[in-house]
Amino acid sequence: MNADKYNLEVLNKIDLFFKLFNNMSDLVYLTKVENNGRFSYLLANEPAQFFSGLTANSFDKPLEEVLPEEVFKIIEVKYKLAIAVKEPITYEDKIVVPSSYSKSPKNKYAPCQLVYWESTITPCNQNDECTHLLAVVRDITERKERENELKRINDRFELVWNSVADAMYTFDRHENFVSVNKSFENLLGWTEEEIITNRTISIIPMDSKEDLKEIIERVKQGEVVPSHEVQRVTKEGNVIDVLASYSPIYDRNGIWDGAVVVYKDISERKKYEEQLKHHALHDYLTGMPNRNFFSKSLKEEMVRSERSNRTLAVFYLDIDKFKEINDTLGHDIGDELLKEFSKRVKSCIREEDLLARIGGDEFGILITNLYDRGKALEIAERMLSSFQDHWIIEDHHLKIASSIGISFYTPPYQQDEKLLLKQADIALYQAKKNGRGNYQVYTN
Ligand code: GH3
Ligand code: MG
Repeated sequence: MNADKYNLEVLNKIDLFFKLFNNMSDLVYLTKVENNGRFSYLLANEPAQFFSGLTANSFDKPLEEVLPEEVFKIIEVKYKLAIAVKEPITYEDKIVVPSSYSKSPKNKYAPCQLVYWESTITPCNQNDECTHLLAVVRDITERKERENELKRINDRFELVWNSVADAMYTFDRHENFVSVNKSFENLLGWTEEEIITNRTISIIPMDSKEDLKEIIERVKQGEVVPSHEVQRVTKEGNVIDVLASYSPIYDRNGIWDGAVVVYKDISERKKYEEQLKHHALHDYLTGMPNRNFFSKSLKEEMVRSERSNRTLAVFYLDIDKFKEINDTLGHDIGDELLKEFSKRVKSCIREEDLLARIGGDEFGILITNLYDRGKALEIAERMLSSFQDHWIIEDHHLKIASSIGISFYTPPYQQDEKLLLKQADIALYQAKKNGRGNYQVYTN
């Protein structure tokens, strides 16, 4: 190969290299590091020259004379860092394209446009001295904008996820917690980190009869399990009522990947329902069970007596001459007396016996689980004698008595509930007829 041909080949390669060099979309700068530590551009491809506004005069000159001061300051720091660490450094930054920047066929940037860059600065060392630096600057605006958009969507999702009033969580195909929202943390007391990292945490009450396996099986089959009432247990151990719904989640390939679960806290509603139930079964004045409660219990106790072959006593009490109290001292004193009367009667019976205010000045008692009638009669005696004790109602000294009618439900258990009550009522009528302040047992 002769020297000319060799030179021509080399020239062709150099020419090709520069064509490619200038056709690159990355900005490339080759910088010389002077002995005094100053920098000067040795070479820059066309995109770099154009972007930085470099002309033929810009080369071999101190960089601070070529670049705007603020740009130089940033570059100098990075160059010095690359020299110090003796290996390539990569960093990202963003700049706003100067407003003076004019649009031209060579220039893809508009004035004031925000551009993200990723720069890699590679130091070139000779004899352990950095002599040159190669900076390759890549426009990553598109990637950054995609990332930012994704982040914006994620942030938005997280905001919504943590702003919904209902507690929500997701679990994966292995039935492990994946994420919980803020309302979940507030309702159940566990933080997301605790519940995800500690697999032993359970929010299902120990005695729950709920069939979670069946629910998960349905979700696996793609079914949305609609809201249903369940109980969950909080970190503090409180059992709460929630409406739970389960919706399946699928991955990108359409494969089942767990579920999103929503818990609507219904503790308040439950409490209200309990209150309503209480009101429906209790007397507002004395707080004692009312007539409804009494008849419900009577039926249950009759069944229980038969089963255990024991005796049940039904007492009907009606305060004697109660109207007179109302008429002479007023309705309010009458009310107070009713309260005091119910307390006194309650103290004469056992915990397991039931006292109810049937209405007005009438009270009913169920004395349960008796071996014989004697015990019930003892209780009646005790009541009558306790009524003889002093009654002081709001500074009024009163004499109060009550008549008591008693019927028994005892083998061979022949009455129905209505008859049993009627018999107690008849006995009460007898007691009134007998001069009041006494008890009578119903006899045929
Ligand atoms: P008896 O010895 O025959 O039972 O005479 P009595 O005056 O007690 O007459 P009765 O039992 O028929 O009357 C009950 C009265 O209780 C009638 C009603 O005005 C009064 N009453 C009913 N409900 C209430 C109440 O909630 N508060 C008050 N203060 N009085 C009531
Ligand atoms: Mg009365």
